[in-house]
Amino acid sequence: MAEALLSVRDLRVNFQITPAGAWPWTAKKDLKAVGGVSFDLYPGETLGVVGESGCGKSTLARAILNLIPASSGEIVWLGKTLTGGSTRDWHAVRRDIQMIFQDPLASLDPRMTVARIIGEPLKVHRPELSADEVMQRVRAMMKKVGLRDEMINRYPHEFSGGQCQRIGIARALILEPKLIICDEPVSALDVSIQAQIINLLKSLQQEMGLALIFIAHDLAVVKHISDRILVMYLGREMELAEKSMLYAKPSHPYTRALLSAIPVPDPALERKKEVRLLQGDIPSPINPPSGCVFRTRCPEAQTRCAQEVPVWRTLDNGTRCACHFAG
Ligand code: SF4
Repeated sequence: MAEALLSVRDLRVNFQITPAGAWPWTAKKDLKAVGGVSFDLYPGETLGVVGESGCGKSTLARAILNLIPASSGEIVWLGKTLTGGSTRDWHAVRRDIQMIFQDPLASLDPRMTVARIIGEPLKVHRPELSADEVMQRVRAMMKKVGLRDEMINRYPHEFSGGQCQRIGIARALILEPKLIICDEPVSALDVSIQAQIINLLKSLQQEMGLALIFIAHDLAVVKHISDRILVMYLGREMELAEKSMLYAKPSHPYTRALLSAIPVPDPALERKKEVRLLQGDIPSPINPPSGCVFRTRCPEAQTRCAQEVPVWRTLDNGTRCACHFAG
C-alpha cells in the first residue's frame, strides 16, 4: 500500500470555557471538542467525515491545519511529524494542504476582485512568479472550475453562492496542493448546486490526483464522493469504514440512525423503510455521559454502556467501530 499522505494519531482538542450563566471567576471547565481521533489518508483518496452539528468535525479540520492548536496527539504529513513543529514547518505544509469553507460568500474578502482572491496564495507562497505568470495561472484555474474569463475583475457580491464556492475552490487549488479539506462546502447551497460542486470536486480530484477530507452533517451528501467514511459523535469516533460496507452493513447504532434519516426517492420504499429516530438533543460536551457518549440517545443501549467506554476496535469486516456490541 502507498505511504499515507496524512496520519492523525489520537488527536485531542480541549477548550477551557466558563459555563453559560456562571460568574466570570467560576473555575473554567474542560470542553473536549475532539476526544482522540485517529486515521490515515492516502494519496487520491476521499475521507468523508460525518456527524451532527457540534460533533467536532470542523474543529478536527482546523486542528489538522494548526488553525486551532491540538491539546495532544500527533499529525504526521508525508512521514514528518508536524505537531510541536515550528511556524516554518507549518508554512511549508500549508502550500500542500488547503481548505474550502462552508459559507462561500463569507469566506471571500468583499473588497478583493476574483483575480486577487484566487491569485493571493501564489503571492504568499510563490513570490518568484511575475504578475503576468500569476494572472495566467488565475485565468487557467478559473477555466478549470467553470468561471468565465470576463468575471476576473468582479467582486464576490456579484456572484451566486455556487459561483462563490467555485472561486473558493479555485483559490484552494491554485497552489496545486496534495490535500484539500472541504469543511461542509455544500451545506449552504441549493440541492442542484450541491450536486454541481460535488461533481466538480470529483473531476478536479481525478485530474489533479488530490486527496480530500470532505466534511458534511449527513451521510447522503458524502456518499457520492467518499472512498471511506468516518462517523463522529460528541468529538469521538463512532465508526470508520469503506463506503460500500458502511452503507450496506453499518456497524454502529449511530450510523444506522443517520442512514435511516436519508429520504428514499421511491415513495413505496420510503414507506417500508425502518426509521430509527434519535431521541433528545446531543448532550453537552462539557458534561458528556459516562461510558459510551452515545448511550443517552442510543436505541440499543444496555447497562454496560453507562459503565464502560467502548474500545475503538477493528471488526472482522475491516470496519473500525466503538460499540460494545458491534460485530
Ligand atoms: S456501546 Fe451501547 S450505547 Fe454505545 S453505541 Fe453501543 S449499544 Fe449504543
